[in-house]
Amino acid sequence: MPASRVRSRDAFERACRLIPGGVNSPARAFGAVGGQPLFIARGEGAYLYDLDGNQYLDYVGSWGPLILGHAHPRVVQAIEEAVRRGASFGAPTEAESQLAELIIDAVPSIEMVRMVNSGTEASMSAIRLARGFTGRDVIVKFAGCYHGHVDSLLVQAGSSATTFGVPNSPGVPAGCTADTLVLRYNDVQGLVDAFAAHGERIAGVIVEPVAGNMGLVRPSAEFLNELRRLTGKHGALLIYDEVMTGFRLSYGGAQQLFRQMPDLTVLGKIVGGGLPVGAYGGRADVMKHVMPAGPVFQAGTLSGNPLAMAAGIATLQELRDHPPYGRLEQLGERLANGLHEAARAAGLEHCLTRAGSMWTLFFTNGPVLDYESAKQADTARFARFFWAMLERGIYLPCSQFESAFISAAHTEKDIDHTLTAAREALAEVAR
Ligand SMILES: *Cc1c(COP(=O)(O)O)cnc(C)c1O
Repeated sequence: MPASRVRSRDAFERACRLIPGGVNSPARAFGAVGGQPLFIARGEGAYLYDLDGNQYLDYVGSWGPLILGHAHPRVVQAIEEAVRRGASFGAPTEAESQLAELIIDAVPSIEMVRMVNSGTEASMSAIRLARGFTGRDVIVKFAGCYHGHVDSLLVQAGSSATTFGVPNSPGVPAGCTADTLVLRYNDVQGLVDAFAAHGERIAGVIVEPVAGNMGLVRPSAEFLNELRRLTGKHGALLIYDEVMTGFRLSYGGAQQLFRQMPDLTVLGKIVGGGLPVGAYGGRADVMKHVMPAGPVFQAGTLSGNPLAMAAGIATLQELRDHPPYGRLEQLGERLANGLHEAARAAGLEHCLTRAGSMWTLFFTNGPVLDYESAKQADTARFARFFWAMLERGIYLPCSQFESAFISAAHTEKDIDHTLTAAREALAEVAR
């Protein structure tokens, strides 16, 4: 049991005086579970060490990028070698083509790709491209899907399932979201109705092919098939946001797993190997509209940064040379079965959702198919579960509405250790 969190507490107090809320991204602040975040000193493989020297088995993996675990030797070496050659040039390097080639070889629908610095930037640019390519304005998104903090995508659904969105952050003018149509995830009829009503105005549909930002929610096959059919029929672009699922569910992402061909794909997280990288790519005829090949403006001083490219290349090469996906599926199944069993033994209503190494334990009694059903979960119970696990050295995402990640550095022993902790923690929160 973690002996002390004094140093984390002090570090957080200091950070709060200097940085809004003490963090540089809100998900880190432990707000949803009540309490203060741990400050991390270092990571190694599947483990994190905080400032007080406590060790935790990590199921966050920097929120997705670290599929190889912390400080993987191949990635560390690549970054070290790159930094000695200089951190940034603002001129092309061969590393950019090398990472582009790895991405194009891996992801079935990508023929050309442009590097940016975050998932946010990638989805923002993909949407601009979809609008520029089609000459239309409307973008369809799904409630509960997150595509970064892009103004036009920071929306929530109105009263009915097929309404134009209202901003859900101060600072986003209503005009920014006036062309964003918000639908329900997995709602095939909603999709059919939206295209019937607005088909000629829709530039593109952006979707997480497995949703990971409302907790993990799987798509139905019919939903993905209808997305492809309807966008194709109406001349709209289908945009897969694979920032989380890319190189995670398989080497070729969700689209390879589900045999789907989107027009554009948004990447981030794993593709940067822990450094800040995003990318968007797809059909060559569409990508050729990006400046300077075409008229759609998009730029970045540090885009294609040599250190970030080196980390991404090393990570993808490792995943290509030693694919962990079969083992991750086995570990995921072992963990899911054990958690399911432990929750049942504790008499807790729950729904465990999983896709490969991504999973969420929802404290709810129904199936979780969309944002509405995800929000039925008992978040107070989740908060107690989170702390009960942390006390036992297991570091989970600090919100019910996030996916947890298993890394290739996790072992069967780590999973079994997690299940022992979970049996105790679930019995505790059931009381
Ligand atoms: C994390 C995430 C983003 C945003 O990426 P950032 O690098 O945080 O800007 C976009 N889409 C999805 C699906 C994500 O999981």
